[in-house]
This record gives sequence, structure tokens and C-alpha cells, in this order.
Amino acid sequence: MPASKILLSEPLTEIPPAVTPADQPKPNSGRQADKLAKLGLTRKLDLVLHLPLRYEDETTVTAICDLLAGVTSQVEGVITHHEVTYRGRRQLCITLTDEKGDTLVLRFLNFYGSQVKQLAVGVRLRARGEVRDGFFGMEIVHPAYRLVAQGEPLPQALTPIYSTCAGLSQAYLRRAIDNALTSTPLPELLPDALNAEIIAPLQLPPLAAAVRTLHHPPLGVEADALLERTHPAWLRIKFEELLAQQLSLKQSHLQRRTRLAPALIGCAQSAAHTLLEGLLSALPFALTAAQQRVQKEISADLALPHPMQRLLQGDVGSGKTVLAALAAAQAIDAGYQVALMVPTELLAEQHVRKLQGWFAPLGINVVWLTASLKAKVKRAALAATVTGQAQLIVGTHAIIQDKVEFARLGLVIIDEQHRFGVAQRLALRAKAQGATDQANWQPHQLMMSATPIPRTLAMSYYADLDVSTLDELPPGRTPVLTKLVSQARRDEVIERVRQVALAGRQIYWVCPLIEESETLQLQTAEDTFAKLSAVLPELQIGLVHGRLKSADKAEVMAAFTRHEIQLLVATTVIEVGVDIPNASLMVIEHAERFGLSQLHQLRGRIGRGSAASACVLLYAGPLSYAARARLNTLRATNDGFEIARSDLEIRGPGEFLGARQSGAAMLRFADLQQDAWLIEPAQRAADYLLSKHPEIVAQHLTRWLAGRENYLEV
Ligand code: ADP
Ligand code: MG
Repeated sequence: MPASKILLSEPLTEIPPAVTPADQPKPNSGRQADKLAKLGLTRKLDLVLHLPLRYEDETTVTAICDLLAGVTSQVEGVITHHEVTYRGRRQLCITLTDEKGDTLVLRFLNFYGSQVKQLAVGVRLRARGEVRDGFFGMEIVHPAYRLVAQGEPLPQALTPIYSTCAGLSQAYLRRAIDNALTSTPLPELLPDALNAEIIAPLQLPPLAAAVRTLHHPPLGVEADALLERTHPAWLRIKFEELLAQQLSLKQSHLQRRTRLAPALIGCAQSAAHTLLEGLLSALPFALTAAQQRVQKEISADLALPHPMQRLLQGDVGSGKTVLAALAAAQAIDAGYQVALMVPTELLAEQHVRKLQGWFAPLGINVVWLTASLKAKVKRAALAATVTGQAQLIVGTHAIIQDKVEFARLGLVIIDEQHRFGVAQRLALRAKAQGATDQANWQPHQLMMSATPIPRTLAMSYYADLDVSTLDELPPGRTPVLTKLVSQARRDEVIERVRQVALAGRQIYWVCPLIEESETLQLQTAEDTFAKLSAVLPELQIGLVHGRLKSADKAEVMAAFTRHEIQLLVATTVIEVGVDIPNASLMVIEHAERFGLSQLHQLRGRIGRGSAASACVLLYAGPLSYAARARLNTLRATNDGFEIARSDLEIRGPGEFLGARQSGAAMLRFADLQQDAWLIEPAQRAADYLLSKHPEIVAQHLTRWLAGRENYLEV
């Protein structure tokens, strides 16, 4: 088709209008090259691998009398009316009349002078778009269209649509891609043995054929499979991409083995006892079998002269803190310092209290560092850290600020790691780098998370980490009973709070989440506090929220711990880490506004003692489908892994993982839900290549991930 006939009138939601729609693409202009670069298309190979975003079916024309509202269709006809009107705003309205004499309105809200001239009465058009039932009958707003000659044959194949940017037309991109396709060979990188063993059983086509199919769908191709990306050609691409991801993750795992870290092997403090042994025997409980297993895994890693990078997954309340303490003890035994980073001040304070309780009697100096410490206290903490006098430093991200210097940092522990952003984790790593006593050493790293990742996702995203899983809760817990209660029954719930408090137990009342406004959130918390104080005058009630000064926060929490407060009104600041076993009832207001894992985390604050605990999810109807699904899941199970699976199903992997997960940024085509079955073969292929063909590994990575590997540094 001659380029001059192609007009850019793509749907505005996806592709911004071109500056000069009737312009012919200028193949060699620098401007276009800049734009290609903006899309990340700098090598010819990038163009070859710039696969269609979707396809349009221009192979059929629907008679105007057969059009259905809501269906995307293509029509052909002659322009019989043409008018620029001001109906609310300036718009171009075209009437198209087809062979049978039926008419359809094409409406343009954004258009150029050149278009007004071009779409004149008598011109023959093919227009395509979603039909809607407008005020004046059927119409298409912003159709994609082409001027055609009478009797011009319809395309026989689906038309690929590429992601692009302003000023880069589909026609230009298509031509650039076609040029690249003919001039750039795409040799098969995978060795024959691997093809025979892994690719052939999956019935995937060769790579070059797959790419060709996707850019130029052949006649009779299964259109639905192409559109839904389940066609074998797509599967081949997704496999290649997942393979690149696995290679990249596994490679960084292997590379860690080439870096050095202090081997943390204990030297007995006194004649017979290490600190680790001392701590173990001082604990008020025996470790569960799962804790013992994980402790051994961590301990063995720490004893190696390479930096550990281990993720400890364990449901809320599974007892991760004590494992952090035991790892710390091993590092301190070996003469090193340990930094424990947590996401909130409240949690830092809790940890300091608990860890000091365990370590102080053993003669270990625990300090804490948060942004809101008094200057004098902070100076002392910084001094103790730089001299090495402080052995365990607990803090919020204040730990990674410039002023903080360590004497001999051997181990970094990140609690609730899913709550930290990429930038913070990077900063901590950079900080840690220079903090050991040898210039080229790195400290060991232990990350802890209560948001378990389902197995397939873990395989895909954590291939560069070693993972330990606590799959057992400490004994003597009674499962939390979860109830959904309508706001209409709030009074009954308040009455229940009164009874529980008078029976000697404690209660959390979680205020509704107001994401848009922190001020509003604060106000709601204060209102809730005032109202509950008014109706429950016989109870001691406390209020804790994010805006409170940290000392005040700590004071409220301490009073709650000492049981001087019976009812604690709180925002989500108590979401992580707070550990008060006597609390046995939690009320969450407007539970429908919270996410699934957040609710699970909140609920994890109760059910920590031996008393039967209950969680009341107060909701205001009508509930959306997703909200109902969330609340029902939460009612049905207390199992964090089950909840994570369900969360993944409701939200899909993108949102579930969030931008925080490094591996996610590497995938353009593979969908971890739909294509999960490809991960395992990709992983096998990765192992094979890494052991037998390291030269192919490098080529494969440049082909698929050029410029993207830095996402892995997190
Ligand atoms: P999380 O995994 O959510 O961080 P914590 O470390 O806060 O859990 O532990 C929850 C509670 O369980 C704490 O009060 C802790 O002291 C207690 N705990 C941990 N391990 C055991 C155990 N083996 N037996 C009894 N209680 C334990
Ligand atoms: Mg914890």
C-alpha cells in the first residue's frame, strides 16, 4: 500500500496524534531516530523484537445495517456529508454511506486542517472502530481510517499495531521494522540438544519463524490465539524472555559466589559459651522444628566467605524475629556488627525493646537509630556505631543516611522487606558495601517478609535469592475467628469491645484507611477516638497514629503493653511487627478499603496468646466484587500462603508484586499467570546453558535484556 494513503487517526487512548498526520515518514531523519531511541529501539535487533502490541482485523467489512453497538467493526463507504460543528466543542462530523445506502456518522474531536480537507464529500473510506449508539444513530468516534479506491482488495491478514510515541506513525514503524527484518538475521541461539529436549516437546516454532509470524500474520492464522497471545509463536517469544530472566537472576546468584564476605564463625566469648548458645538457652520458649531448620540454613550461609542473600518468608506471627536475633548473635560472636532495618519507627521501637531484653543480660549493646531521636541520643548512637561499641543497631531507614558509619558491619537484616522501595534497598546495599573491615567485602544480608510469594512467582522472581520458609506457627496459638459485620451493627460491636475489655483482654480498633489524604486519615482517627471514648467511659483508651511524635507513640505502645490501656485506637501504623499477646480482639473499620495482605497483616496482631481471638471486619455496603472476594477469603482462611494465592488471583501478578520487585521489570511479553507453565522449562534451559554454554548466555542476555539488567541490582 502506498504510504501516502495512510492517515494517522489511531484511537487517542493508545496513541497520541501525530503532529502532521498526512506526513510521509522520512526514513533517515534524525528526529525519527530520536523517537525510536525513546522507545528503546536503537539496534536493528530491537526493531526486529519490537513485537506488536495487538492486531487489528481489517480483513472484513461489515454492512452499516449489520453494525452492533459496542463491537469494533470496519465499514466502507463514500462520504456524503461533511461538517465542522460546535456541539459543546469543535468537532468534525462525517457521514459515510455504504453500498446499500445506509449511513453512519464518524466523529472527530481532535483533528487537523489537513484532515478537514482530505475527508471531503465523495471520498471513499474504510473506517474502523468501536461502534456506539449515539444521539443521532450509530456512530464511531475517532475511527482509524484509510482512503481507498473502489474495489480495493481487503487485507488478507491481521494488521499489527505497535506501541509507539507521539510523532512516530504506525506506517513508519512498520516500514522500519520490515527493513530490519529483511536485513537482520535472527539466528537460533539455543543449541540443538536443548531444542530437542525442551523446545520440541513444547511444540514451539523456531525463533525466526515465530518473529516473522508475529510481524506478518500469515493467511489463515488462528486469529484468536494471536490476539490472546496463546499462539505458539507468542509462546516461543515468552519462553525466550523467561529464559533471559532466569539466566539473569541465576547469573547474579552465581556472581555473588565470587564476592567476599566475612565468614561468621563464632569464637567462644567465655571458655564454654558462645553468645548464640547463651541466647538459645535464655529464650523463654523452645524453637519450633521449622525455626530450627531455618536457623541452620542461615547459620550455614553466614559461615561462608561469600555474602549471603537470603529471604526468610514466614507468615505473620511465625516467629521471624528470634531468627534475626540468632543470626545477629552468630555475627556478634564472630566480632561483627549487625544492622536491623525496619519500615516503621513503631516497629523499630518494639524490636529494640525485645532485642534488648534478650541481649542486654548477655552483655551486648543494642542501640537504635530513627529520624526522630533527640539530637543528643542520636549523637551517642552514631558514636557507638562508628566505634563498634554498639553491636546491634536497630533502626528505620535512618540507618542508611550518610552520617551513619559502621566499624565492622557483618550482617544486614531487613525486616518486612516488602515494605521498602527499590531505592531504599539500593541505598542500604551501597551503605553496607563499604562498611565491613575489608574494602572488597560485603556484609551478609537477610531479608524477612510476611508476604509469602506463591511458588511459581518465587521461582520467577527470587531465582537470585536463597529462600527459607517458616511453614509452622509456634505452638499454643488459637486460630483467629474472623467475622464480617455490617456497619449497621456497630453498636453491637462496641458492646462486645466493652465485654472483652472487662474480661481483662485488650482490643485494637483500626481506623478506616483514607489513601487520598493523610490529614483526613488523622482526623478520622481522632474522631473515632473521641466517639469511642464517649460511649466507653469505663475503659482506658489510647490513640496511636503516624503523625504522633515517636516518643509519644512509644509511650502509648508501652502503656498498651503494660495493660494500662485496654482499647487502642490506631491507624495502620500497627500493621507490622506489633506484638502484644494479651490483645485478643481487633475491629477493622471499613475493612473493604484495605488490601488483602494488609488485612492479613493487621489481623496478625491478634491470636498471639492462648486466648481465643476474634477479628471483626466492619464493612459498609454495597461491596464491589473484588472487595467481597477479599473479605470472604479473609474469613475463610488464616493461612498467609493461601491468602497470597488468592490475592494474586484477584489482582494479577503485576499489582501483586508491585514495581518493587526487580524481576518484574524484565518481562514485556510473558504473563506470569497465564504463562506460569513456561517458567519451569525456562529454568531447566537456563541451568543447561549456564553449565554448558556460557557464551550463549551472554548472547541471549544481550538479545533480550540489553540495558535492563540493572533492575537486578536491587
Ligand atoms: P513474625 O514472624 O510475625 O515477625 P514474631 O517474631 O513477632 O513473628 O513472633 C510472634 C510471637 O511468637 C512473639 O511473641 C514471639 O516471641 C513468639 N514466638 C516466636 N517463636 C516462638 C516459639 N518457638 N514458641 C513460642 N513462641 C514463639
Ligand atoms: Mg515480624
